[in-house]
Amino acid sequence: MLSSSTSTLRLHQPTRPHRRHPPAPAAGGATHLAPSRRWRGHPPAAPLRARPQRIRALDAAQPFDYESRAAGLLEERQRLKIAIVGFGNFGQFLARTFARQGHTLLAHSRTDHSALAATLGASFFTDPHDLCECHPDVVLLATSILSAEAVLRSLPVHRLRRNTLFVDVLSVKEFPRNLLLSSLPPDFDVICTHPMFGPESARDGWDGLPFVFDKVRVGDCPARRARAEAFLNIFEREGCRMVEMSCAEHDAHAAETQFLTHTVGRMLAMLELQSTPINTKGYETLLRLVDNTCSDSFDLYNGLFMYNKNSTELLNRLEWAMDSVKKKLFDGLHDVLRKQLFEGSAQAPNTSNVRK
Ligand code: NAP
Repeated sequence: MLSSSTSTLRLHQPTRPHRRHPPAPAAGGATHLAPSRRWRGHPPAAPLRARPQRIRALDAAQPFDYESRAAGLLEERQRLKIAIVGFGNFGQFLARTFARQGHTLLAHSRTDHSALAATLGASFFTDPHDLCECHPDVVLLATSILSAEAVLRSLPVHRLRRNTLFVDVLSVKEFPRNLLLSSLPPDFDVICTHPMFGPESARDGWDGLPFVFDKVRVGDCPARRARAEAFLNIFEREGCRMVEMSCAEHDAHAAETQFLTHTVGRMLAMLELQSTPINTKGYETLLRLVDNTCSDSFDLYNGLFMYNKNSTELLNRLEWAMDSVKKKLFDGLHDVLRKQLFEGSAQAPNTSNVRK
């Protein structure tokens, strides 16, 4: 019997989990946890070093209980119940990582994806009322841009908790920002995000890939701020490059980066390019571009055009650029022809007057 205060126990001190570690798996969820990764956003809390400790009385074990309970609470706060609305290509892609990190997943879509959801430990709801009655912490809108408004309006948001966090992952940002602010009750939090990668480009992980977010409305209370951070931490933990910017700024940049990339990919696809025995590296880049862009639905591409007012200007500039390049070539050609036809000379053309 251990009764004396001089009895010595050598105990293993549990390390306190900090924010870089994935939360413990949720009941029913997948159990594999990701290794910790480097953070690029807020500086991580300094890790506590594990050290063996000498305890000289049974009473002294109390702080351990307290500490492990505190650690449990921390994990509990990091673990979210996330409802994915729009469980298609991208929704499922995100769900795999959410499940691996141990979050509880609910899903709803126009099509019945219950079999696929089951493989991720997610509960699938065909009826949005049932989904909302589960009171998720976060509702993640991952439907097509074109259907987002109709889908959002079909959700019985009055069945959700009063200050649920809504997040969208649409590839345009001003449109969902305005939609969410105008459709949701004022007590709901709103974060607009755009993971700038997809199932093709992030096949090998999310490390170093940009994640754009705008905390459009997060209530000024610790629990709501913590919930918002816990959601963003999902992406930080995977090593994403966290880029906070306004939705308007995103759309201005995205016309240049995303819409241009998708348009060129789709134009090249029209040429039905084939691999050859003498592919150059440049040509292989073009083939990969076709794969990366055309594996996304046409709805997605159409949404990039229809819901980003900067896209029309980009298309016009692309046309102008093609015309300019053609003009440069044809200007030289005209010189040769003129010489041959009217000046009786078949010499090599003088292209010095062609603008570089
Ligand atoms: P998508 O074609 O843009 O969207 C497919 C999803 O929208 C499916 O869940 C589909 O429902 C739903 N949907 C389409 N039309 C609908 C309608 N009329 N009514 C109700 N639901 C409808 O393809 P995605 O790649 O999965 O993209 C989803 C969202 O993520 C988009 O907003 C996209 O911009 C964004 N995003 C995509 C990527 C990417 O790489 N793919 C990257 C970043 C962001 P069903 O389940 O019934 O098919």
